[in-house]
Amino acid sequence: MKFNVSDLTLILYLAPFLLVLILYLRHNRKLNRRGHERLHEARESGMTEPASIHPVIDLTRCCGSGACVKACPEKALSLINGKAVLTDPTHCIGHGACLEACPVEAIQLVFGTEKRGMDIPFVDPTFETNVSNIFIAGELGGMGLIRKAAIQGQQAINSILTKKNEGNDYDVIIVGAGPAGLSATLAAKEQKLKYLTIEQEESLGGAIFKYPRNKVAMTQPVTLPIIGKVEMYDISKEELLGFWLRVLREQQLNVKFHERMETVEKNEKGYLVKTSKGNYQTANVLLAIGRQGTPRKLDVPGEDQPKVVYRLIDPEQYKGQHVLVVGGGDSAIEAALALSEQPDTNVTLSYRSEAFGRVKAKNRDRLAQAEAENRISVQLKSNVKEIHLETVSIELASQETVEIPNIAVIICAGGVLPTPFLKNIGVMVETHYGTAIRAN
Ligand SMILES: Cc1cc2nc3c(=O)[nH]c(=O)nc-3n(C[C@H](O)[C@H](O)[C@H](O)COP(=O)(O)OP(=O)(O)OC[C@H]3O[C@@H](n4cnc5c(N)ncnc54)[C@H](O)[C@@H]3O)c2cc1C
Ligand code: SF4
Repeated sequence: MKFNVSDLTLILYLAPFLLVLILYLRHNRKLNRRGHERLHEARESGMTEPASIHPVIDLTRCCGSGACVKACPEKALSLINGKAVLTDPTHCIGHGACLEACPVEAIQLVFGTEKRGMDIPFVDPTFETNVSNIFIAGELGGMGLIRKAAIQGQQAINSILTKKNEGNDYDVIIVGAGPAGLSATLAAKEQKLKYLTIEQEESLGGAIFKYPRNKVAMTQPVTLPIIGKVEMYDISKEELLGFWLRVLREQQLNVKFHERMETVEKNEKGYLVKTSKGNYQTANVLLAIGRQGTPRKLDVPGEDQPKVVYRLIDPEQYKGQHVLVVGGGDSAIEAALALSEQPDTNVTLSYRSEAFGRVKAKNRDRLAQAEAENRISVQLKSNVKEIHLETVSIELASQETVEIPNIAVIICAGGVLPTPFLKNIGVMVETHYGTAIRAN
């Protein structure tokens, strides 16, 4: 085959285009493969149900720009066959960055899925529920985003300002010191309301406190009552919590920590908020309690000791100790693994079922390795019977009860969600099975 001059010129002319095309196709193939792998892994581990709000992609509209994939900070989306797919549904936290990034409006955010309903309480545009003088702000109302929660906390206080207080000790009791509760607390102070904020944890921050170390928590500024515009970009979890702590101190906010709201009762003046430490008479209640719930307890003797916690914060503090982790989900396994990496730490993982069901494949493999290396003693089909000062009694699969040395117990048994409490106080709750969210 002979090439003449004009053929060669054409080849030279087309070569850069061909090169770009080859690189583009190669890149696409790589993205495709990665997307398939992630989808396969999620399906294998049974991690196919998003926790709350998540995107639904209209594939007939999706143009495969990949803008949503790039925008998602949780890496929950991938491109497969040139279309966006939610390949890691359990990573999605529903903040809607993907929705904003999509150039062709192919994304809709929805509550719940066909299989897994999501309970959303009724809240009107002033953030009042169907029960007069009981308000809801933040993620409990369905919007999962720090900035949105903070805005709603302030707006709810503006609505509460219009309510009369006849003979109550407080204008408002704010429950929860996450972004919604803290912003509401600042607004209540600014408006000179008689307020009190109650937080069940020892510190503020709500869900942010539970983010992985150094996670970027907020990428855009937020405007807060008293403080004004907080010009912070790409701020980490630690920086954001540090900022909130400074605000709490400098503004001397009236927040009581380690106090859990148990119930809210209507009476002739207003509401009696009953907590783990006392009762408060108030005209209004603002529930800013998020959707994470309250840690589920084991309800065994000795659980009220300070050595029992419901979350692992700093594995290093357990160096060289005998630690018991209770639970069978990813958080229990991840806690046990992190502890097992500490020098001379003796870790037991107790789970009442016979196998670890819906956990990430990676965690299951790492746990098997840690067990094989004697770094973790895994006790399936076991039940904690009693927690003593320096030991724990556990009933093993053999039904024999043993007492093992113990300095700390970390219970990762999930949370008790707020729906029963809401229904109990008369707030209407609707279960959504993949229906679109309203804009608040
Ligand atoms: C892993 C993860 C990553 C996330 N990443 C981001 C992100 O990058 N950017 C972003 O904008 N959003 C993110 N979010 C979502 C964001 O954290 C939440 O939308 C936000 O924290 C909601 O604020 P909130 O105040 O409504 O509720 P929460 O932050 O959940 O705070 C509720 C507070 O109420 C307290 N409480 C609950 N019940 C009671 C009770 N009975 N008595 C007393 N106190 C009670 C809780 O202890 C908690 O402190 C993420 C969420 C998770 C889980
Ligand atoms: S809602 Fe947020 S976390 Fe979920 S896919 Fe979209 S950008 Fe990612």
